[in-house]
Amino acid sequence: MTVVDLDHVTFAYDDQPAVRDVSLTVEEGDFLGLIGPNGSGKTTLLHLMLGLLEPDSGRIELFDEPVDAFDDGERIGYVSQQATSRGGTMPVTVREAVTMGRFAHVGHGRIREDDREIVADALETVGIDELADRQVNQLSGGQRQRAYIARALASEADLLALDEPTVGVDAESRDAFYQLLESLNDDEITIILIEHDIGVVTDRANRIACINTELYHHGDTESFVESDALTEAYGATGQVVHHHH
Ligand code: ADP
Repeated sequence: MTVVDLDHVTFAYDDQPAVRDVSLTVEEGDFLGLIGPNGSGKTTLLHLMLGLLEPDSGRIELFDEPVDAFDDGERIGYVSQQATSRGGTMPVTVREAVTMGRFAHVGHGRIREDDREIVADALETVGIDELADRQVNQLSGGQRQRAYIARALASEADLLALDEPTVGVDAESRDAFYQLLESLNDDEITIILIEHDIGVVTDRANRIACINTELYHHGDTESFVESDALTEAYGATGQVVHHHH
């Protein structure tokens, strides 16, 4: 199944093009690393993919449906850039926040024992079960992002979209977080990850989309590493390419 399909998508804020003529697909089970210099249109492209912005031209499908008709929100877990830095204003516990992931499934019904079990499993999978009764706004950035992932798991999302999820997270927790993403991907969850550290992306992702308004590369990680796409996309701006290790 094709999870995301973009066909000649263009979008401008006012008259400033942010995404120009981008075509790409994300297939079920992919781990797509979305990279490019600062201000190159990564967040904009992700928002277009998820239907949060409407393209000026081109066609977008999400789970084989036109994105503007798509209404299975619980299939998508989205961790925005702000999500990890702000706790939200509602005083809810981690368990309550993750339980919200079940609401779409129970409809007007009550949360039942099996929903509670799914929530407990999700908390355990991301490794924050001992924090279940803490307030979300008391968590560290790294713990909070795990809580968001747990909520997506509880809602049985099959696409996780993450926008620089480890900004402000220490190196050790970061590594553990990316291991978690990789194991979720091994369990068939499709992942789209915006990340400025190219090393993380080439280590973990099987597919790369490299953009700077236009798409410089879309394909598997090996062919990206062997190509000149990185220098071409970053060369235009003179920005430093971050490598890890
Ligand atoms: P990236 O995620 O790669 O840093 P963005 O998608 O956030 O890039 O931004 C792409 C371009 O669009 C940048 O030039 C940015 O300044 C501009 N931009 C982003 N959001 C807005 C907005 N809400 N209004 C106007 N311009 C924006």
